[in-house]
Amino acid sequence: MTLRPLDTIINAERTVEGGGFVVRRPFPTARVSHIDPFLLLDEMGPVDYAPGKAIGAPEHPHRGFETVTYLMHGAMEHRDTTGAVATIRPGGVQWMTAGAGVIHSELPTDDFLRAGGRMHGFQLWVNLPAAAKMIAPRYQGFDAEELRRVQLPNGGEVRVVAGTVMGVTGAVETTSPMTYAHVLLRAGEEVRWSPEAGHTALVHVFDGALSVNGHAAESGQMLVFSRMAGDVVLTTNGESQALLLGGKPLGEPVVRYGPFVMNTREEIKQAFDDYQSGRLVAKT
Ligand code: MN
Repeated sequence: MTLRPLDTIINAERTVEGGGFVVRRPFPTARVSHIDPFLLLDEMGPVDYAPGKAIGAPEHPHRGFETVTYLMHGAMEHRDTTGAVATIRPGGVQWMTAGAGVIHSELPTDDFLRAGGRMHGFQLWVNLPAAAKMIAPRYQGFDAEELRRVQLPNGGEVRVVAGTVMGVTGAVETTSPMTYAHVLLRAGEEVRWSPEAGHTALVHVFDGALSVNGHAAESGQMLVFSRMAGDVVLTTNGESQALLLGGKPLGEPVVRYGPFVMNTREEIKQAFDDYQSGRLVAKT
């Protein structure tokens, strides 16, 4: 199989998110607004909190897309208006489809807040197709041991959250075709990913250094591949970690404002009106 040509490499920018999180963000930035169908990727931390100092995101709304939280260190409690209450622990993922509207909070658990410790994870925003922006909200949560894995020969692994990598398919049901995987690579190992032709394919390196289709990349760099047919092959001389993100481009207008991502300005105005008048979340 041929290798996919590389389009560009993005250097993630450090920025402070609303709640005070220090994040490393490949996009959105002044240069790259989004990479269809993905709207945002934030690496939260790693940050070491003293006892009583951990922070989170109190109640806020979303409409028109999905938020995905994947934790490597720390513990967060998620609550949302679908009724979901869940603790996300290291290696766990939550895939929340905001659809027509959800209000949620993600806060450090009481235990984590009291004791302090390391917080490290990712938040990904996934756009919804126009026809699915107003679907009913949905919450999917999986603990570390529920994620399916590819075991590599030297102790590395691929944790597959969604989509298929090296024959292993993740448990999350996505609204449009999509791949999300965490690669932990050790020296001498190789990961071969075969994203579908025409789909977006991204590799975000966040620990160590590796080579992707022969291109050297280090922590904080995102490789953006062309949409031509071809594989994406990761190798390393040391230990490194990366996220694989793949998805079918929606090819639709993106109008975003704060917590809402729609297709037109009128729909954004409607989202604000609905939120302010208490109609964002369907009454059950
Ligand atoms: Mn949120």
